Amino acid sequence: MKRLLALLLALCLLCGCSAKPVTAQGFAMDTILSVSLYQGGSQALAQEALSLADEAEARLSCHREGTEISRLNQEGCATLSPETAELLAFCLDMYAASSGALDIGLGGVSALWDFSAEQPSLPEESALLEALSHAGADGLRLDGNEATLLDPCMQLDLGAVAKGALADDMAALLRERGVTSFLLNLGGCLYLSGGKDGEPFRVGVEDPRQSGSMLGVLYLTEGAVSTSSGAQRGFTLDGVRYHHILDPKTGYPADAGLLSVTVVCPSGLLADALSTACFVLGEEGAAALLAQFPQASALLLLEDGSLRVLGSLDFEPA
Ligand code: AMP
Ligand code: MG
Repeated sequence: MKRLLALLLALCLLCGCSAKPVTAQGFAMDTILSVSLYQGGSQALAQEALSLADEAEARLSCHREGTEISRLNQEGCATLSPETAELLAFCLDMYAASSGALDIGLGGVSALWDFSAEQPSLPEESALLEALSHAGADGLRLDGNEATLLDPCMQLDLGAVAKGALADDMAALLRERGVTSFLLNLGGCLYLSGGKDGEPFRVGVEDPRQSGSMLGVLYLTEGAVSTSSGAQRGFTLDGVRYHHILDPKTGYPADAGLLSVTVVCPSGLLADALSTACFVLGEEGAAALLAQFPQASALLLLEDGSLRVLGSLDFEPA
């Protein structure tokens, strides 16, 4: 929570707000969400954009009873809304494109980890292996809006993509209503549109090694910025850090030599999916994945502290 507040504060400072934006804040998807409208819009519209988060959570959460995903997890088949079906189809494509690194079928495994427990502990190895044997998003079949889990023990978890999808939905609403300059901050996923005061937005990229300090500044007029990092959620036990981004090959936190991945691209959903997948894949795999998506670029922080840019980014290191 402290880390999120620091990030919000840092963003606000970097944005150096001259004209006062219309702002609204909320909490959903286990994170603080904020909407800032710089040109056009109203308080009511900012709130309406925020309310899309509750709608998305009511469809997509695997932690709440009665959502589309929970019904699918419990019953093994479900008729989905067109929006949810489209999102799952995208996730299947990304599962294939990332050679399984982005696996929304990991829900049974992620449920065994409690990264926010007051007294954290490791899952039982045997339970982890059992859950892992039911993972693999290719066990999800989609026929239009009808979804079936071929292995009924597979459980879906959309945590890696839900915020990015929400960012796109919020951005579409704001554009449709004529807002020409806005900033959405959904925790690890930002969406910026229209620049600010005729200049690109300045986005601070947080250094995961030290809360409140920055790796540098990205200059961006339009698009999404998604960061995946082991620092965002996790615990340290006996001197070892266990974080929330899991390697589908092992069921344990991904350990591919990266401390954080920040992806910039026009779509929030793609940025969110790619940042998680790249974190799991490591530097080489991330480069190969990004090569399939020329509209996306990434900033990697390697374990040795060096930075690597994939694609083209307007980035100024600190
Ligand atoms: P993100 O913060 O977008 O990188 O997504 C991390 C979240 O996605 C975790 O909290 C889990 O809910 C879920 N997750 C963890 N590992 C994976 C993975 N390899 N593929 C898909 N989802 C994952
Ligand atoms: Mg993600």
